[in-house]
Parts: sequence; structure tokens; C-alpha cells
Amino acid sequence: MSPASDERRAQLAANLAAVRAQIERACERVGRSPEEVTLIAVTKTFPADDVRLLAELGVRDFGENRHQEAQEKVAAVADPRLTWHFVGQLQANKARAVAEYASVVHSVDRVRLVSALRRAAAGREHPLRCLVQVDLGDVAEPGGSGGRGGVSPDQVAEVADAVATAPGLVLGGVMAVAPLGAPPGQAFARLARTAAEVREKYPKATWVSAGMSADLEDAIAHGATHVRLGRRLLGERGYDR
Ligand SMILES: *Cc1c(COP(=O)(O)O)cnc(C)c1O
Repeated sequence: MSPASDERRAQLAANLAAVRAQIERACERVGRSPEEVTLIAVTKTFPADDVRLLAELGVRDFGENRHQEAQEKVAAVADPRLTWHFVGQLQANKARAVAEYASVVHSVDRVRLVSALRRAAAGREHPLRCLVQVDLGDVAEPGGSGGRGGVSPDQVAEVADAVATAPGLVLGGVMAVAPLGAPPGQAFARLARTAAEVREKYPKATWVSAGMSADLEDAIAHGATHVRLGRRLLGERGYDR
């Protein structure tokens, strides 16, 4: 290993330790076990070498939000131990390609996309896990910038039904990005209610993918099972998305 990669490894190890400690404290505060919370390293804009280093440090779940970048990185890393999560907006015409490397799609936001994913999953060995992305923009105050993708809470059931009845797909649960201009706790409380409604009908749909670098504690307090962390783990991105 070169000195530069030794240095990067030490930095990632320190960030990972800090994040794990933070997850533990957040769980402790609300009487949850840290084992209930899976850390997904969102490596968008960061190189394949960072994925390799994090994998050496024991991280197994990785998230990306753009198909082309994800596809190249997955191929470059080529580590069968890793689980790839697609967390970005997905065009129906990319569904087939994404289904070739992703195990989970967090951003299912319309019935038409479910149809594309169902066709894409037809040749897969394992079912493709899908989360319904919920738009929490309705909790944002006037003047807040509102939703950040997803279906409105009252349309979640329709998309969930479509996933649950599609061969080759498994309904994992729900996902959300906290809206800007609202307290994240309020948004994640809303998400928790939607998650509970989905679970009432589909008891195995237990995943709640919520919480990013800025709102990890609030998400855990409101039942997140999967947190998606980029900056806290990898550092600031050169450009944001
Ligand atoms: C970029 C991104 C994240 C990670 O965000 P950070 O603020 O860097 O932790 C999580 N979820 C989605 C959907 C993202 O696009």
C-alpha cells in the first residue's frame, strides 16, 4: 500500500469508528439495539479504492445514486461479499442494467418503475428487494423547499401493492430523504407512520431506510433500520448531489 492509501485508510477507519459510536449512542438513547441498524456507505463521487478500503474495514453495504457511476464502480471493485444499494432516482429504461448489480433499489416511486423492475428481475437468481420512496414534503413549512423525491404518503399503498405482487421483487419497506425546511424528527415521525401502515399489510416489509449524515440521530430515534451515510464516512464531496 502506498503512503497515500495508508493515510486514506486511517482516515476512513477513524470516520467509521466515529459513525459506529454515534449510531450506538443514538440507539442507546431510545432503547434500541445497534444491531437493528445497518450502515450503508454512500460512495457516490468517491473512487473504487475507497470502497475497497471500507470493505477491508468490514463495511458490506454500499450505496450509489447514479447508474453509470455505480455500474463502473461495482465492476472495478468486483467483490462478491458486498451488497449494492441503488438509492437515486431511477429511469425505467435503466432498470434492467441496475438489476444486474444492485440487490436493493431504495427509490421505487411509481408503478411504471415497478413494471420495469419486474421485467428486469426476471432473469435474476435472487429476488430484487424494493423500497417505496416516500415524499415527506408535506411536513415542510411554507417556504421550505419541500419534497426530495418519492410518492406522497397516500400513494404508498398502491406502489407497495404493485411491488408485493410482482414476481421477482420483494417488498422491503420504505425509504425517505428528509425534506429541507422542516425538522427532520417531524419528517421521520411521518415516515414511521407510513412504514407501520405498510407493515400492517406486509409484515415482512420491515426496512425503514432513513437518515443521512445530517439527520442520523433523528432517523434512528424514529425507527430507521438502514442509514445511508456519505459525507460523515468519506468526507465532503467535491460537488453535491
Ligand atoms: C448522497 C445521498 C446520501 C448520503 O448523503 P450524506 O449527506 O453524504 O450522508 C443518502 N441518501 C441518498 C438518497 C443520497 O443521494
